[in-house]
Amino acid sequence: MPSGAALEAPARIEGGPGALDRLGGIANGLGTHALLVTGHSNRHARVGELLAAAGVRWTRFAVDGEPTIDTARAGTAAALAAGCDLVIGFGGGSALDAAKAIAALVANGGDPLDYLEVVGRGHALTRPSLPFVAIPTTAGTGSEVTKNAVLASPEHGVKASLRSPLMLARAAIIDPDLLAGLPPAVLASSGVDALSQVIEPFLSIRANAATDPLAREGIRRSAAALPRAHAAARAGKPIDTEDRQALAQASLLGGLCLANAGLGAVHGFAAPLGGMFSAPHGAVCAALLPDVLRVNARAIAARAPDGPAHARLRELAAMLTGRDAASIDDGIEWTAALCRALEVPGLARYGLTVDRIPELITKARAASSMKGNPIALSDDELTEIARASL
Ligand SMILES: [Zn+2]
Repeated sequence: MPSGAALEAPARIEGGPGALDRLGGIANGLGTHALLVTGHSNRHARVGELLAAAGVRWTRFAVDGEPTIDTARAGTAAALAAGCDLVIGFGGGSALDAAKAIAALVANGGDPLDYLEVVGRGHALTRPSLPFVAIPTTAGTGSEVTKNAVLASPEHGVKASLRSPLMLARAAIIDPDLLAGLPPAVLASSGVDALSQVIEPFLSIRANAATDPLAREGIRRSAAALPRAHAAARAGKPIDTEDRQALAQASLLGGLCLANAGLGAVHGFAAPLGGMFSAPHGAVCAALLPDVLRVNARAIAARAPDGPAHARLRELAAMLTGRDAASIDDGIEWTAALCRALEVPGLARYGLTVDRIPELITKARAASSMKGNPIALSDDELTEIARASL
């Protein structure tokens, strides 16, 4: 790494304070009747007003928690029943992933299991999704710019992706004003997830010349803004405008990086944890990040000390701490201290117990994200990560 360059992204990315106001013009050019996929809060009122003012009809589909295969089926049926020709996702990663899956399924027909990786038949999507507009209201998943939608399969106890370049949003609207008032716990879990989504692609075996500059920028911005933003939110104060902007950008950069360079063991574990325990994605990634870095660093020092990953860990430490002379251990300790300051709970909170770890590891090995990890980890090493993250 890096080998060549690869970058796929939505056709249009609108960013900056007030960017949401441009939704009407964007939607009006893409369709006449939108399925508006949201979470359960009523924050979408403004979106509805903007659509109505632009002459775009809309039907709401609310998603309860992280989307499952059944969520995608129900949303697809709702879009077909209403005759929607456009899908808008407004919310956190759950709403955006649900919207993205629905847009693909309406256009392609069939059932999610026809196309899902890991648990389904894995058929390729052949038709472009219905036009899809993504509007994130947390700074975490980067789903607004990725080409996959993660769906939980409670029956299989895992999460798996629908994935295709045909699923990229036609437009992503990233308005940092939408992050005002995020609860501290959501800011913490989504923020550390966003950080992990620039760190893992930077260390990934698929890191490349197109994603590296984005990852570096995202790491620096996130590392600087996240502790300040969380301290403000926790004190009940408004988050500084520049910090909100930095977090929104780090999330966007993470989405671009992971879609084009892959991830690593943090996300390799997160997929089965989400499926086995309905654990929220961001919180799980935050709980895992320090111990994944620590075990990866030790394995790389032992088995690939002269490889590129070792140099990247040094560079990562310097970016996180802001000190050029920082050691790899300093960088890892910085992430652990961040998670302590942000009061990130361990995995036991979500139901993981020692006796379930072997099953977790079997499933994590099969997760697509694990393939990007900078070094192949043994079962003992994976067990150590899971135990230390409890
Ligand atoms: Zn993530």
